[in-house]
This record gives sequence, C-alpha cells and structure tokens, in this order.
Amino acid sequence: MRTAICPGSFDPITLGHLNIIRRAAKIFDKVVVCVMLNSSKTSPMFTAEERVEMVKKVVARFPNVAVETAGGLLAEHAKVYENPTIIKGLRAASDFEYEFQMDIINKKINPQLETMYLTSNEKYTFLSSSAVREMAKYGVDLRDFVPCEIIDDVKKRSEMYFK
Ligand code: ADP
Repeated sequence: MRTAICPGSFDPITLGHLNIIRRAAKIFDKVVVCVMLNSSKTSPMFTAEERVEMVKKVVARFPNVAVETAGGLLAEHAKVYENPTIIKGLRAASDFEYEFQMDIINKKINPQLETMYLTSNEKYTFLSSSAVREMAKYGVDLRDFVPCEIIDDVKKRSEMYFK
C-alpha cells in the first residue's frame, strides 16, 4: 500500500491545501494529513486540536484520507509508515528553495524518505494560511479561499482574536 503524508501547520486549512490533498488522494492508496504541533510559526490562530478538527471536517468526504498530529521531526515520525512519500505543494520559487533544503535535512535523518512535489493550482498560487488570517481580520468574504465547512470557524475566531 502506498501512503502519502501531507504535512503542514494548517492554521487554518485553505483551498490550496485541499487541492494538494485531493490530488494526492487520487495518486496514493492512503493519504495522512499530518498537523505539525511544533511549527516554527509563532502564535497560531487555532490550537493544534482545533486545526485537526477543522481538517477532519474538510476531508471527511475522502474515504482514503486520515488526519493525525505529529510533534518533533517529520522525518522521524514518517518511520511509523512503511515506505511513505511526503507530498508538498509548490507555489513559487521561494517554496522551492525552502523545500529543497528540507529534503536534504530529511534525507539525513531518514535516508529512505522521498518527497514529491505537486505544483499549486494556478487559482491558489497566492494563497497561504497567513493570507487567510489577514483577510479574515478585515472581514473579506472567505468563500474563494477556505473550504466552506470551516468558514464560520475562521470568521468567529478572527472576530474574537482581532476585536
Ligand atoms: P502555509 O504555508 O499556508 O502556512 P503550511 O505550512 O500548512 O501552510 O503548508 C503545508 C504545505 O502545504 C506546504 O507543502 C505548502 O507548500 C503547501 N501549501 C500551502 N498553501 C498552498 C497552496 N496555496 N497551494 C499549494 N500548496 C500549498
């Protein structure tokens, strides 16, 4: 069985993330969305538990997609699975530089681990969780940016967070 791991902070999950997850789910037997607990991104908008709950709501329609959390290093965590492949989305050259460096580090820790990259759908190349947080803050309609299942969660939180 071929397993893909889609890691990220998902603070919150966006339509860009979902596009990558959906495409990975067509290619692999099983996709595990891995919500990273120790992201270097400081002061998240949502707790890890909330991020997991939101991702679960969004991927409930995909029978071969599961959600889990991981602390520590992804390359260590990936050893739980037999021959997994990490799947990352690439939006721009800046993503490539970062991912290239991450891949070298991951291979040092877990030499068997391969990472594959899916280019972002052109509709979402500009989209990031931080852009969503910023738009939510100013009351922008989020329908084109986050899955419909979590729009209310993001709106409510940003009202609390930024009032
Ligand atoms: P962000 O960069 O939005 O804060 P994450 O750290 O959660 O998101 O990113 C997790 C993974 O999702 C990374 O591989 C990242 O490149 C990918 N990703 C994030 N946004 C997009 C997008 N709009 N299109 C394609 N891939 C994306």
